[in-house]
Amino acid sequence: MSSLITEKPIEHPDRPGLWIYKNKVMFSIWWLHDQAFCEYKIYLQLEKRIKPEKTKERIEGKQIHEKSYADFRKRSMLSTFENIVEKSKIKPLLSQEFPFRSLKYGIIGRADNISFYPDKFIVVDDKPGPKKYPLGTNEPWETDKNQVYGYCLALKEKMIEEFQDTRPIYAALRKRGSNDIYWNEIFDENAENKIIGTINHIHRLISLEEEYKSNDKPGKCRGCSFNKECDRNISNK
Ligand code: SF4
Repeated sequence: MSSLITEKPIEHPDRPGLWIYKNKVMFSIWWLHDQAFCEYKIYLQLEKRIKPEKTKERIEGKQIHEKSYADFRKRSMLSTFENIVEKSKIKPLLSQEFPFRSLKYGIIGRADNISFYPDKFIVVDDKPGPKKYPLGTNEPWETDKNQVYGYCLALKEKMIEEFQDTRPIYAALRKRGSNDIYWNEIFDENAENKIIGTINHIHRLISLEEEYKSNDKPGKCRGCSFNKECDRNISNK
C-alpha cells in the first residue's frame, strides 16, 4: 500500500476548509466548483468562517449520495488501489468514494465514482443535471466540469507517479440517483491546463496574493447558499 493512502492529512488548525498534508496546504476539490460559481464563497468560508446554508436540494443530494455509497459497499469487495489498477488491465472495475490527495497541486477530495477499464479510466461525478445546463447550450455548467477535472488531475498524477500508467482519463457527469451519464469528455491537455490555472489562482487567493472577486449576476446571488450572510450579495438589484 502506498504512503499516499496510509498517511492522513489533518485539518488546518486556524483556517477552516484547508488541510495540511506532508507540510503542504491543500484545499478541497469542491472549491473548484465554488470558484467557478463565485470565488467570494471561498473567502466567506475561509476568512469569515461562514458555513453554507443547508438547502433542501443539498440535504436531498447528500441522502441520495449516502444511499448509493451504502448500496455499493454491500455489493463490493475491499481491495487495495494497487490491486484495482492491476486487475483492471484485464477486466473493468469500479471504485466509489476514492480519496485523492495531490501534493503537486495542493488539492484534496473524494471522487464519487471511478471506472477502471483496460484501455481508459472514467471519473464520474453525480450532479442534479442534465436539466441544469446554462441557458441556450447543451454543455454542463463550468462549476460541475471544473470539479470533475480536479479529480481527473489528481488521478492522473497518482497513476503516472505511482504506477507509470498512462491510460487516458475521461471526465463524466451523471444525473444523481441514476445511471444517466449526460456528459463525458476526454481529460485532454486543454482541460488539464485550464484546471491547473484555476487551482493556482485559488492558491494565490488563499495566500492573499490576489483579491477575491465576487459575482456580478443577481440571479446567482439569489441561488447562493451564502446569500443570507454575504456582504456582497446583490440579489436585490
Ligand atoms: S451571495 Fe453573491 S456575491 Fe455573495 S458569495 Fe454568493 S454569489 Fe457570491
